[in-house]
Amino acid sequence: MRIFNTMTRQKQEFVPIEPGKVGIYVCGPTVYDFIHIGNARPMIVFDTLRRYLMHRGYEVNYVSNFTDVDDKIIKRANEEGVPAEQISEKYIAECRKDMEALNVLPATTHPQATKEIPDMISLVQTLIDKDHAYEKNGTVYFRTRSFSGYGKLSHKNIDELESGHRDAAHQLKVSGEDEKEDPLDFVLWKPKKEGEPCWQSPWSEGRPGWHLECSCMSAKYIGGTLDIHAGGEDLIFPHHENEIAQSEAAHDQTFANYWMHNAFLKINGEKMAKSLGNFFTVRDITAKVDPMVVRFFMLSVHYRRALNFSEELVADAGTSLERIRNCFEKLTERAQEGSPLAPGEEEKKKEADLLLTKFDAAMDDDLNTADAISAVFEFVRAVNASLAEGISGELAGIYRDALANVMEDVLGVKLAREVELPSEEIEQLIAERTEARKAKNFARADEIRKLLLEKGIVLEDTREGVKWKRA
Ligand code: AMP
Ligand code: ZN
Repeated sequence: MRIFNTMTRQKQEFVPIEPGKVGIYVCGPTVYDFIHIGNARPMIVFDTLRRYLMHRGYEVNYVSNFTDVDDKIIKRANEEGVPAEQISEKYIAECRKDMEALNVLPATTHPQATKEIPDMISLVQTLIDKDHAYEKNGTVYFRTRSFSGYGKLSHKNIDELESGHRDAAHQLKVSGEDEKEDPLDFVLWKPKKEGEPCWQSPWSEGRPGWHLECSCMSAKYIGGTLDIHAGGEDLIFPHHENEIAQSEAAHDQTFANYWMHNAFLKINGEKMAKSLGNFFTVRDITAKVDPMVVRFFMLSVHYRRALNFSEELVADAGTSLERIRNCFEKLTERAQEGSPLAPGEEEKKKEADLLLTKFDAAMDDDLNTADAISAVFEFVRAVNASLAEGISGELAGIYRDALANVMEDVLGVKLAREVELPSEEIEQLIAERTEARKAKNFARADEIRKLLLEKGIVLEDTREGVKWKRA
C-alpha cells in the first residue's frame, strides 16, 4: 500500500516496523459537546484505513484519545456549575454512541488525558533533565529551539516562525507568557487558575498542556515509534509539530514513520467548526439520515480533498447507496434459492475477483475510497446485467459475499436494511414532534411522523398522548 506522507509530501510504500503489525495513533476529539460531522470525518476515514489494513491481514493496534482536560471543557463546566469531569464523561459517552451509529470500531485503547497524569509528569521531567524544557513560576515550557527538527512536518522555517512572533512581544505580556525565554516556546505544564481541575506536580498544582497528552499516550499504548500518526489537517501545526518535538527530544527516535491528514469537511466553502457556528452535530444529522448514508457520503471523496457538505449532497449519496443495496438485496434473495453453479458460470465467478482486485488497487493507492467505490458501481452494473439474464443461487452467493466484503467489512457501510430504531430514539423524536406541534411547526411534525413511518414506526395520537408501535 502507498500512503501520502505529510512529512515527505510524497506517496510512499507502507512498510510497518514489525511485519504484519501496525500501530496507529489518531488525535481524538475534545469532549465538551456533541461531535459535529467535521469531527466525524477523521473518525470514519481512519477507521476505514484500519479496516482495510485488517482486510490485508495486518494486526492493528489503534489508539485514539479523548481530550478530557481543556479550557473549553472547563468553560462549559463553569457555565453549567458542574465539575469538569461531569462534562467530559457525558460527552465521551455521547461520542461513543455517535461512533457506534457510524459503525466506527472502538479503538483498541481510548486513553483519556486525566487518567495519564503521572506519565505526563514524568515525560515533562525527562524533557527538563535533557535541557529541552524549563520551569518559570510554576509553568513548564518546551525550549523549541533546542529541537533542531522543529518545523519539519509543517515545512515551516523556524526563523520565519520567529519573525511571525516578533511583534508578539506585546501579546505575550497580555497573556502572561512574557516569562518565556523565546516566543516560540510552548507550554508543557501550567499552574491552575481558581476553579480549575488540577494535579500535584514538582512545579505547581496544575494541568498538562494539550500537545503533551498525545506524545505521552501514543508512546505508552503503541511504543516509541508509531507506524502511522493521523488527524485532521488543522492539527499539522502546531499540534503535531509540537508532539514531534516533545517525543523526539525525549526518546531520541523517530516519532512516527507516516503522517496522514484528512482535509476539511466544509460547508458553504468554509471549514465546519464549532467556533464558526456553521456546524451540524452527528446526532442531528443521523436523526434525519441513515448513518450509513453519512458514512458512505464521507468516503465518496478522497480523504485529502475537501468535502463539501450539504443535505442535497448527502441525499445524492443516499440514492447511490440505494443502487448498491438493491443489488445486494436481489443477490441475497437469489442466493437463498440455493441452486448450484450452472454450466458456464465458472467464468462468471471471476467478476467477484475482479471487484476485489480493483477495489484493493484503489485502496492501495493512498486509501482512494472514491475510486474503490467506482469499482463497486462497475461491479453492480455487471451483476445487474447478469441477474437480468438469470444466475444460480451459488453464483449470487459468491457475488453477495464479495459485495459485503468490500462494502461492509472494509468501508464499514452496512448493506442490509434492517436498521431498527432504538426505543429511546423513537421517544426522543416523538418528544420533538410534540414540541414542534406546540410551536405550530406542523411541517417538522409531519416530517418526523414520516421519518418514523419509513423506519416502520407507526404513531397514534390518543387522549393520553402519543403511542407508537412497530409496524
Ligand atoms: P477537535 O475536537 O477540534 O480537536 O477535533 C477533533 C478532530 O476532528 C481533529 O482530528 C480535527 O482535525 C478534526 N476536525 C475538526 N473539524 C473538522 C472539519 N471541519 N473537517 C475535518 N476534520 C475536522
Ligand atoms: Zn494529538
